[in-house]
Amino acid sequence: MNQKFTIEQINRDLNTKSISCVDLIRSCIEKIKIDALNDFISIFEDDAIEQAQKIDEKIKSGKKLEFLEGVPVAIKDNILVKNKKCTAASKMLANYIASYDAHVIEKLKNSGVIILGKTNMDEFAMGSSNETSFFGNVLNPHDKTRVPGGSSGGSAASVSANHCVFSLGSDTGGSIRQPASFCGVCGLKPSYGRVSRSGLISLASSLDQIGVIANSVIDCAISFNSICGRDKLDMTSFKSEILDISKIQSDVNNIVVGIPKNFHKFSIDNEILASFDNLIYNLKKAKIKVKEIDMSFMDCALSVYCIIQPAESSANLARYDGFRYGFDSKIYDSLKNAYENNRTIAMGDEVKRRILIGTYVLSSGYKDAYYNKARLVQLDIKNKFNEIFKKVDFILTPTSPSKAFKIGEKIKDPLTMYFSDIFTVSANIAGLPAISIPLKSNDLPIGLQIIGKYMDEENILHLSYNLDKKFINI
Ligand code: GLN
Repeated sequence: MNQKFTIEQINRDLNTKSISCVDLIRSCIEKIKIDALNDFISIFEDDAIEQAQKIDEKIKSGKKLEFLEGVPVAIKDNILVKNKKCTAASKMLANYIASYDAHVIEKLKNSGVIILGKTNMDEFAMGSSNETSFFGNVLNPHDKTRVPGGSSGGSAASVSANHCVFSLGSDTGGSIRQPASFCGVCGLKPSYGRVSRSGLISLASSLDQIGVIANSVIDCAISFNSICGRDKLDMTSFKSEILDISKIQSDVNNIVVGIPKNFHKFSIDNEILASFDNLIYNLKKAKIKVKEIDMSFMDCALSVYCIIQPAESSANLARYDGFRYGFDSKIYDSLKNAYENNRTIAMGDEVKRRILIGTYVLSSGYKDAYYNKARLVQLDIKNKFNEIFKKVDFILTPTSPSKAFKIGEKIKDPLTMYFSDIFTVSANIAGLPAISIPLKSNDLPIGLQIIGKYMDEENILHLSYNLDKKFINI
């Protein structure tokens, strides 16, 4: 593959006129079409070129561009961009046009980036392979017979294939980190509340976070800075300092990393284990303190996720009835029949499965046994993380137990598919920040996950930058 885009290089090339912004945008759009990965659901070709022309005029007039001006980006199709379709990859919303910009989009537009279009994803962000999309699956740029991961598969594939410089995704149980690991790029899921969710089509509101996917750790940091912060339309969001990029690029000292004691018991791809163990060996050799920690709650976290996430999704998706929102089948003779038909026709199997599970665990008689119990276990998991973070600064795990699998390999087996999230869901359950960065691999990409303390994105990126520079990319 060609040299990967970085924000710094695009900014330099535009400012020094080595490339015009119109040519840059045209070449990205051409590449999207030629590669035919199906990573985009819609492309805003005319708007993007018009905006690029303005950028070129600005450069011609002798002005310097700000860092993100003219940088081509892609947005997961569950984040609203005003006056553009926002489908969440569902037939239900196939013709829905957003009437306002998500908070993150307002911020991105103010920074001057060029939005190329909306990326493909699993339907309503439910999935780990992008195969549940109403618009067809996305192909992994490293091997077109394989999935790109999910649910932000289009966002990860588009960065990996150099179709854009960075993209936005959403992560409820691993949907940024797992596709980032399958596509060999970096993906950051921020702490819960650090990025506004207003304008994100909700999956499970207490777990969802918008985050970034980019080719480098530094681009993750820059793009994260451009979207984070308090928004009065999301009461769970809060004000926080933006990340200090020069600190992230400095040497890291005196850290203690934790690795889960018993994770080898899960069925994990051999090359992933070998690559992870090799990294740990080299960290120890470099006198970085590595401590074993007890994370035996990982499988509980997955069970908790499989209750809380469908419970919240079933409530959130109740609004899609074909009247207020979504597909209207026009085949009905009663109100009940209308709900049934609209939702039966316009929702895929995985979405229906989760609505059924969600309504079941919330129904009277079962709520105490399932939902309320899952909430108690969630609290326990949060406490366990607090205890762990008294002993270590970061937790390292593989991002996913497998590399990108073959298209069709797991789609008929939901339990195996859910197991893809074994290492990632805990961070969502506890609201913690986590990143996936590429580890060394022979052929298909492998991801390393770093989970940090609440609000510790800066230190996660600091460690990621150093690991990448000193231990992985050497
Ligand atoms: N793969 C997970 C699921 O299917 C995660 C989804 C997500 O993070 N949006 O639930």
